[in-house]
Amino acid sequence: MSDIIRTWRYIPQRYNLIGTKCTTCGKVYFPPRVICPECRRNGKLENIQFKGTGKIHSFSIVRTPIDDFKTIAPYSVAIIELDEGAKVTSQIVDADIDNIKIGDPVEMVFRKIREDGEDGVISYGFKFKIKK
Ligand SMILES: [Zn+2]
Repeated sequence: MSDIIRTWRYIPQRYNLIGTKCTTCGKVYFPPRVICPECRRNGKLENIQFKGTGKIHSFSIVRTPIDDFKTIAPYSVAIIELDEGAKVTSQIVDADIDNIKIGDPVEMVFRKIREDGEDGVISYGFKFKIKK
């Protein structure tokens, strides 16, 4: 339990979907940027916390993953267009992978990403699932 708490404290961006928004041109970025690529020095960036909802922009099905993810294969990795406009890449969970469609509405969920065998450290992070 203590490992989880420590990870939560030091890596907040893995649990809150934080990006940046340029108040000059209105564009939203994820991961967060330091400079707006559109406005350069005229851009004014502020942090934005995404609601965690959006839709599937494109996706692919992974049937032969690297060793770490073998137990969950096959699975789908999608590029998700958030309601705020930015795009994130994420695994789609709890889905019938043969029925995923571009445009499906999705929402963010917290899930176990991996568990290291020996010391049992469990990593959590965000994934997305299809909104019913
Ligand atoms: Zn801008």
